[in-house]
Amino acid sequence: MHFSGLRVVKEALTGHRGWKPLWRNPDPKPDYDIVIVGGGGHGLATAYYLAKTFGKTRVAVLEKGWLGSGNIGRNTTIIRSNYLLPGNEPFYEFSMKLWEGLEQDLNFNAMVSQRGIINLFHTDAQRDAFRRRGNAMLLAGADARLLDQNALRQILPYLNYDNARFPIKGGLMQPRGGTARHDGVAWGYARGADLRGVDLIQNCEVTGFRIENGAIRGVETARGFIGAKTVGVAVAGNSGRVMAMAGQRLPIESHVLQAFVTEGLKPLIDTVITFGAGHFYVSQSDKGGLVFGGDIDGYNSYAQRGNLPVVEDVAEGGMALMPMIGRARLLRSWGGVMDMSMDGSPIIDRTGIAGLYVNGGWCYGGFKATPASGYAFAHLLATDRPHATATAYRLDRFARGFVIDEKGVGAHPNLH
Ligand SMILES: Cc1cc2nc3c(=O)[nH]c(=O)nc-3n(C[C@H](O)[C@H](O)[C@H](O)COP(=O)(O)OP(=O)(O)OC[C@H]3O[C@@H](n4cnc5c(N)ncnc54)[C@H](O)[C@@H]3O)c2cc1C
Repeated sequence: MHFSGLRVVKEALTGHRGWKPLWRNPDPKPDYDIVIVGGGGHGLATAYYLAKTFGKTRVAVLEKGWLGSGNIGRNTTIIRSNYLLPGNEPFYEFSMKLWEGLEQDLNFNAMVSQRGIINLFHTDAQRDAFRRRGNAMLLAGADARLLDQNALRQILPYLNYDNARFPIKGGLMQPRGGTARHDGVAWGYARGADLRGVDLIQNCEVTGFRIENGAIRGVETARGFIGAKTVGVAVAGNSGRVMAMAGQRLPIESHVLQAFVTEGLKPLIDTVITFGAGHFYVSQSDKGGLVFGGDIDGYNSYAQRGNLPVVEDVAEGGMALMPMIGRARLLRSWGGVMDMSMDGSPIIDRTGIAGLYVNGGWCYGGFKATPASGYAFAHLLATDRPHATATAYRLDRFARGFVIDEKGVGAHPNLH
């Protein structure tokens, strides 16, 4: 089934009877060449690139719930490549380039919207740090613009520039950053993988690993044993729990992150804005709701819901930035489980077990990484070599001291 404008018109004229399910619902086969654990954005993207780019189609994605039930369907949809460090920036810029061609590639409307992202700064020191980050981005081939207060006032006239505690002095803008429809991304990758022969198996929780003589032989699941000599784990917030079943202890803690949506408003915010003096970021969805979030809840948890102190903290951040937000009614909030690594950067690597690979540690920034993470993990699974943009994401970097700590806060997962 090919999507096009013509197709939409045809279906509209014929009672929408021609639309088909986006993917099959197969039973698991006894074995596969490659099994991917986790049907989130990263697992589905990995399956897609394995089939499309590396010609691997005897592949299954095993998902314990339904496709998109995890963080891929819970995030605040921001995509960007505004990183500082050499281990990160080329990877996220690779991801941004994949976002730019994604919808044509998938033949699926994922609502990729390059509406720009602006990180506000509030002090001279913060401006200098942002200038440095902008220069690092330019050096890596990304785009960045430093805006002074006058330039910013033209774009965002409604911000509280003269806030006594947090005066807004300017911002670092990445014009190519923006948003994408999160669950649309999962569905697009799922459809693309399924079309190429990948089995997407829902309600199939992995409950254990079969390991013989130091090599993976397959996985135990709620639907029986499934054999595979190559297994890739991409379970985000459940990384610690799942890898523990293979006897592996990861440098990852799980924390809750919440997101919030207001009632629909008339078009107001046509970019993504992040507050630089607290933790608050906001954009406006196509339905008109203000979509925003802040910090993680700060305690370890596997619950997909958070608590009220963070709701209050996020609301305070919003009020400090744009006081008129206080008149909007909050409609919905929810939480997701974050795989917070010790340096705030991800892991895409082999493990101590032959044939078992891990993809995790995305913290609360893994949505924007979905295309590059899928591509790089597929590269690793297919060739046993890391992709050129992901060579720094090694598991042993914590032991070797080669951490990639964007924030410079050290081994405090809750602060990254
Ligand atoms: C509120 C919130 C806001 C966020 N905002 C942003 C943002 O604006 N920008 C950004 O870049 N990132 C953001 N993120 C982070 C981003 O969503 C995640 O880093 C990313 O989605 C994680 O990768 P994933 O999509 O593969 O995870 P998931 O969708 O969580 O996929 C993992 C899957 O593994 C499955 N699974 C777990 N255990 C098992 C098992 N034993 N067997 C089988 N399957 C299993 C789960 O059910 C789940 O479906 C946000 C996250 C949240 C929660």
